[in-house]
Amino acid sequence: MRKPRDSRSFGEFDFVKRFRLSEQIIEQIDLEGDLRVALIFPNTYTVAASSLGFNLVYKWFNKLPRVRCERFFLHRDFQKFYSLETQTPIDEFPIWAFVMHFENDFLNVLWLLRKKRVPIFNNLRRSFDPLIVFGGALTYTDLPIFRFVADVILHGDFEAMLEDLQEVFVYENRDRLIEKISHLDFATVPINNKAHKKVAASQDMNVLVPSSPLISSKGEFANRLLIEIERGCPWNCNFCMMGALKKPVRFLNPQVLKKLLSNSKSVGLIASNVTDYPWLHELIPWFEQRKLRLSFSSLRLDRLDEDFLRLLRMNQQSFTIAPESFSSKIRGILGKNLTDQQILEALLKAKKTGFDEVKIYMIYGLDEESEKELNEISDFINSIKKMGYKKIKLSFNPLVPKRGTRMEFRKMQDVKILKNKIRVIRTLFGHSAQVTFESIQASYLQYLINSADENNSVELIEKLDRTANGSMQISRSDLF
Ligand code: SF4
Repeated sequence: MRKPRDSRSFGEFDFVKRFRLSEQIIEQIDLEGDLRVALIFPNTYTVAASSLGFNLVYKWFNKLPRVRCERFFLHRDFQKFYSLETQTPIDEFPIWAFVMHFENDFLNVLWLLRKKRVPIFNNLRRSFDPLIVFGGALTYTDLPIFRFVADVILHGDFEAMLEDLQEVFVYENRDRLIEKISHLDFATVPINNKAHKKVAASQDMNVLVPSSPLISSKGEFANRLLIEIERGCPWNCNFCMMGALKKPVRFLNPQVLKKLLSNSKSVGLIASNVTDYPWLHELIPWFEQRKLRLSFSSLRLDRLDEDFLRLLRMNQQSFTIAPESFSSKIRGILGKNLTDQQILEALLKAKKTGFDEVKIYMIYGLDEESEKELNEISDFINSIKKMGYKKIKLSFNPLVPKRGTRMEFRKMQDVKILKNKIRVIRTLFGHSAQVTFESIQASYLQYLINSADENNSVELIEKLDRTANGSMQISRSDLF
C-alpha cells in the first residue's frame, strides 16, 4: 500500500502498522480474493486483541475463495481507518462486517458510520454505501435495535456458515448480495423483512479448529496463543447468555489440542469454565512436563481439586472466582447453584495451594436484595480474611437483565437504588478488601441497548448517535 503523504494520515498509518508488526504470525492467511471485506472490531486494538472470535472470523472469512478479509479496530483520532494487514483505507472495502460482542460497542459503530458519512439507518443507504454486516456473540439472540442499522445480521457460529457463505460472497453488487443473503436461514435481512430461522451451530470443533492465527502482544491474553477448548456452557445460570444460548456444549479433542500446543510455550485456554473440560485431568501432567505457561478464561469453583489448583498456582498469582453473591438466597435467584460451604472450601483449598490473593466477581442490584443480604458480604469477607489471604479484591457488577436469558423480563434496578447500594457496600469493608464497581452508567447503557424493542429503537439510536458523535455529553466516556 502506498504511504500517505500528509502527516496526520501518515501518523495514523504508522500507528496501525506498528500494531501489525508487533503480532506474531502463527498461520499464514492468504489474502488472495478480490471481494474486500473489512472485519471491524468496534473498539480499541487492545480490546480487539483479547477476542479470539475476532481473529477466528478473520481466518475463516479468508477461506472463502473470492474474499479478501482484513482487520480493523477503532481509535478516536482516526480519520482514514487503515486495515491492520495492508494498511488499506476502509473506504476501499465494499463490505463492513462488525464483530458485535458487547452492547456498548454499538455506540462505536454509530460513531464510525457517522464519521465516514454512511447513513446510520439501513433504509437510507444507497447503492454505493458499504454493506453493513453484524455478527458476533450478540447475534446468538435477536436484538431488535440491530435491525435498524445492520443491512444483514448473521446469527451464530461463523464456521458453521462458511459453506453457505461461499455461494453468496461472490457478488460485488450490493443489492444482489443482499438478495442472495436473504435466502440463508441464519441471516436476518431487515430491509427485505426477512427474519432468521435458526442460529448456526458448528457440530464439531475439531474440523475447523478454533485456534488464533496470530499472537498479539496486547490485551488480556498478551503474548499467548489463544485456543478455544469448549464452546457453550453446561450450566444454566439465570442471568447468563452463554448458558442460555450456546447449546449444545462442544469440546476440542485433547489430541487436537496437544498437536496445536506442540510448538507453543505460552497459551490461553478459552472456555466458559475450563474445569468442565472432560480431559483436563489427563492433560495436567502433560502441561506440567512441557512447562507450558497457561492462562484460563474462567473456572467453576465447585470443580476444583488439588492437581488443578497446583497448575493454576504455577501460572497465576491471583485466585479468581465468580460466586456472584455471598447470599444463598440471591445465588438461588441467579441460578448459581453453589453452597456457602463449596465457596469457602474452594477458597481454603486455594489458600493451602499457596494463593495469597483472591479476586471475586459479584453481582448486585436485584429487587430481592435487602440490607441483610448485603451485610452477609462482610461476614464472608471476615471468614476469608481468617484463612490468611493477604489481598482480597471484590469486583461488583449490577445485574443487567439480558434477552434470551431467564431474567430477560426483569428491569434493571433504578440508578438511585444502585447508587445507594454502592454506598452501603462501601461501608462494609474498611481496609479489609479492595472494592471496585462497574460503572452504573455503562451498565445502564448496556441494558438500554439490549432491551430496546421495535417501538423505541429508533429514538434510542438517535440519542446514541448524538452521544457517540459528541453533541450529547452524558455518555461520552462510554465511547472506547
Ligand atoms: S455464568 Fe458461567 S457457569 Fe453460569 S451459565 Fe454462564 S458461563 Fe456457565
